[in-house]
Amino acid sequence: MFNMILFGPPGAGKGTQSRFISAHYGYVHLSTGQVLRDTIARDGASGQLIKKFIDRGYLVPDDIVLRELLRESLEHADAPGLIFDGFPRTVHQAEILDEMLTRKGMPLKLVVSLEVEKDELYRRIMGRSVDSGRSDDREEVIKQRFLTYETETLPLKSFYRQEGRLVEVSGMAPKQVVFERIRKHIDARLEPMGRESSSYGIRE
Ligand code: AMP
Repeated sequence: MFNMILFGPPGAGKGTQSRFISAHYGYVHLSTGQVLRDTIARDGASGQLIKKFIDRGYLVPDDIVLRELLRESLEHADAPGLIFDGFPRTVHQAEILDEMLTRKGMPLKLVVSLEVEKDELYRRIMGRSVDSGRSDDREEVIKQRFLTYETETLPLKSFYRQEGRLVEVSGMAPKQVVFERIRKHIDARLEPMGRESSSYGIRE
């Protein structure tokens, strides 16, 4: 199983690139933000609580995020790969993920950090806010989301860099170009048998 993380600030393109990767490789896209928004949409007590954090631009507490993510990932135990989008967001979450994946004998293969300049991030989020329907794509909340990212999530980058699992990919390009950049990193890490049989065959 190919497990990877797409890492980056709000607006970097994690969701878009996860969808491209999922369509190309058949990996399951696990977006914690989306899982949490789905729980809110079901309109139970737990959704109401989650909404309070999201609408302020704060992280949802670990116990809730882990419960929701675990429930979702159990449904995809047979997937050829998992793309974690928006998780982990703290070093503590990263340690829990490592523990979980190691226990299952399917460690992380790759962490892609999408690098995008801040002005461009604002521009993208404000642009998508028109039709995203997301209550947290508002200017005051976006400011807090960036702050939360810088204080709680950014330290994760050095965590993964130290372990040699991080690759930085510039996200300052058209979506398809960014995808091609990510694709090179995935392909370089696939086992030969996991590659498309045609290219394997040609070499033989
Ligand atoms: P996203 O869709 O990834 O931009 O996430 C939207 C919001 O969901 C974030 O601003 C957080 O409030 C919450 N969220 C998503 N993933 C996590 C996570 N791993 N830990 C805590 N909160 C999260």
